[in-house]
Formats: sequence, C-alpha cells, structure tokens
Amino acid sequence: MASVLVVEDDQFVRSALIRHLSDASHTVRSVGTALEALREVAHFRFDVVILDLGLPDLDGGEALKMLRGITDVPVIVATARDDEAEIVRLLNDGADDYLTKPFSVEHLSARMAAVLRRSRGTTAGEQPARQVLRVGGLTVDPLRRQAELDGVRLDLTRREFDLLAFLAGRPGVVVPRKELLAEVWQQSYGDDQTIDVHLSWLRRKLGETAASPRYLHTLRGVGVKLEPPQ
Ligand code: CA
Repeated sequence: MASVLVVEDDQFVRSALIRHLSDASHTVRSVGTALEALREVAHFRFDVVILDLGLPDLDGGEALKMLRGITDVPVIVATARDDEAEIVRLLNDGADDYLTKPFSVEHLSARMAAVLRRSRGTTAGEQPARQVLRVGGLTVDPLRRQAELDGVRLDLTRREFDLLAFLAGRPGVVVPRKELLAEVWQQSYGDDQTIDVHLSWLRRKLGETAASPRYLHTLRGVGVKLEPPQ
C-alpha cells in the first residue's frame, strides 16, 4: 500500500495512528519531533507524511516549510485548532490536506486515499492525460511533469504544475474556482486566497502579471482561463 511517516509527539495518538495504518497494510515509520521528521524524509522515500502541528521543537508551520524545502512528498497536517485562516496559510505553504483533531480513522483514510490518488496520478482505471499540451508558446507534458514556455523549462512546484496542466487541458475555457479547488486541490474546502496565491506564483514564473496577463486570465468572481496571448 503506502509508505507513511507519522510525525506526532503524543504517544497515545501516535500508537493509535501506527496501529490503524498498519492494519490497513501501510508501512509506517514514526517520529516525535520536526527535526527527526526532516532527517527521515532526507533518508527515506515516503508516499505521504502525516504531520502534527503541535510538536515540541518547531512550530508546525515552520516544520512544514522546512519539509517543503527538501521534499515534494504529500503532507497531511493534523491540527488541534480549527482556525480557517491558519488552515488556508498551511495549504498555501504546501500542505496537501489537513485534519482537525480529534479525527476519526475513516476521515484519515479518506484524506490519505485522496492525497495518494493525486500524487500517484495513475491508479487502476484512472488514466492520466498522456498527451503533450500546447497553448501558444506553452508546452505541458503531463506524463513527464515538465512544462516549457517558448522552449525554456519552467521550474514549477507540484501544485503549480497541476494547476497549469489542468488549465492547459482546457484552453480558452473559464474554469470556475470551485472546480479548480475540487480538481487541482481535491477538496471542497478552501477560499479564493488559496487559488490566488498559487496563481500569482504561476504568473510570476510565466513572466506575466495580473494587470497585464498573457496566458493566465482571472475573471473576477467567475474563474480562471488559460489561452494563447492575443
Ligand atoms: Ca502534539
């Protein structure tokens, strides 16, 4: 199944998580501090990390940023605080999903399955787009996960690539924000800020601005579309 790193300092929660994940045939390693987690991801390959935000050594947001500095592994953050602003910030900082404590085993399984489905892209019955997409001078290769603009390779994060590939697959079509959240972020939760932040990063990498767009067009209150420059 999946190789999971559990980062949790609470022994009771940690044991319960390990037991549940092992029962579900996942391979589990676990640590109790952020620094140990960083060491783990530097040495082993995981399919998903479950990161408690209340760790003894580092603030959860900091831990997430440091993890993101060294790995693209999907991260599900577990937070005791049901704070919408914080959750949006964490999602923008690279968390793939979140769980609010206390969470049920079913809830965790569902989130993990969604995250794994996304990161693997190709599970049974779910064929990825294999075709190289071309929109103007933009080339997006979903299989190799590479994008180029006018022949120059773009250095994109996983999420930026997913966003670009999704839009490039529908050139000229206005995609509602809700659909982007559902398809690219695979969540029904989130506010416009999540998308706006990623769009602005993507824009910068495409060498354009919201004020003078070339490929990426935001239609306020409606959605986003990607089309060749006029
Ligand atoms: Ca904790």
